Amino acid sequence: MLENTPKEITKRSALVVNPAKTCQPIGAMYAALGIHGCLPHSHGSQGCCSFHRMHLTRHFRDPIVASTSSFTEGACVFGGKSNLKKGLETVFEIYNPDVVAVNTTCLSETIGDDLTEIIRDTKIPEGKHVIYANTPSYYGSHVNGFSNMTKAIVSHLVNDEKIIENGKLAIIPGYVEPSDMSEVKRILKLIGIPFIMFPDTSEVVNTPNTGKYEMYPDGGVTVDEIKDLGNCEATVAMGKFASEAAAFELEKKSDVEAHTIKVPLGIKATDDMIMKFLELTGKSIPKELETERGQLVDIMVDIHNHYHGKKVAIFGDPDIVIAMTEFAISLGLIPTSILTGTPGNAFEKQINEMLEQAGIEDAKVKASGDLMDLHQWIKNEPVDMLIGNTYGKYIARAENIPLVRLGFPILDRVGHSYFPSVGYKGAMRIIEKISTAFLDKYDMECAEEDFELVM
Ligand code: SF4
Repeated sequence: MLENTPKEITKRSALVVNPAKTCQPIGAMYAALGIHGCLPHSHGSQGCCSFHRMHLTRHFRDPIVASTSSFTEGACVFGGKSNLKKGLETVFEIYNPDVVAVNTTCLSETIGDDLTEIIRDTKIPEGKHVIYANTPSYYGSHVNGFSNMTKAIVSHLVNDEKIIENGKLAIIPGYVEPSDMSEVKRILKLIGIPFIMFPDTSEVVNTPNTGKYEMYPDGGVTVDEIKDLGNCEATVAMGKFASEAAAFELEKKSDVEAHTIKVPLGIKATDDMIMKFLELTGKSIPKELETERGQLVDIMVDIHNHYHGKKVAIFGDPDIVIAMTEFAISLGLIPTSILTGTPGNAFEKQINEMLEQAGIEDAKVKASGDLMDLHQWIKNEPVDMLIGNTYGKYIARAENIPLVRLGFPILDRVGHSYFPSVGYKGAMRIIEKISTAFLDKYDMECAEEDFELVM
């Protein structure tokens, strides 16, 4: 497996091998699915739209709806205006969404289609909405696409004027699983905090099987809720890369104070989230959460000998990797190779600060990296475990190290869209996965005289 990856590292400036990211529109599509009754629309050739729908379907194992402007060669020369206008008319007539959320592809971006002008010139049915975001694929990653569409939700749908304070917190959960969004909502409800979460893909991409297909499932933030976002007390944006831009947009537009925290993955990031909630609302911590935290600490103590001092490589989307690195350090693991495919200096800065604080030296940290970088680092400085998405399985097999699947995409396991990784409950689940992976490997490989019943 991956025999052609050399141990010796030579500098690459133009070649990317096994990218640790994908392109912007898929993230915009995912964010758009978090609006109730929304049909994402891809303005470009249809191949992009099919790929993005397929990739999301493989990850969530649920139907993913989206339409496309379906460019042909003519549109490439003369622009895609008539494709989009006709496409929007058709979509409202046949599929009847409440909202269409248009993203662009590299093709329409290169042509330079002016979405504002095209949509202004399109007849949109009464009571329906079209929002749009430019999502050029040659900049950033799917995380930037998610961020751009989340920001567009605010730019296009939030009421300009504050009407009356609604006493709610605006919550931007970041590029996380629907199960993670549900878990954050459960915590908010336990504390007794009214909120509006956007985008919210829970019960959209992890729907129950009732035997009946619903094109627009029950979940998602409604347009009325989005309009009300400007009346919120404050915004809590989870993950700088995926959520901060929308929070700043809401602050600029409606004077709702923006607070950015980490994705609440791991004990410290969850503590920080809850403390932020308490600070903003004056509420106190409920007994149930204290119990959950205590149970998490109990598990950490019970099985710390399974992972203490083990070296790990962590890769994936920046907000998830930052939080996971912090959690790994809390567990006594030693992150030695940390990488994201998404560009951004903030990633390396934040990770390096954490490592320095923990006294971990000589770790490799890189933004805009690829999985060949990661594999070569591991060949030179072996690790005991890899934490990241499904694409890590090739390195895991080549180097005989266990892979704990976390992040996007997970194409070869199920459960991630139904069980959280965030909050205290999610942290317990991650510990269980890490511990089980180490022990399973030990059981398969140890000498017979070391094969233990009780571990
Ligand atoms: S990189 Fe461009 S052409 Fe390829 S899927 Fe993404 S938007 Fe489409």
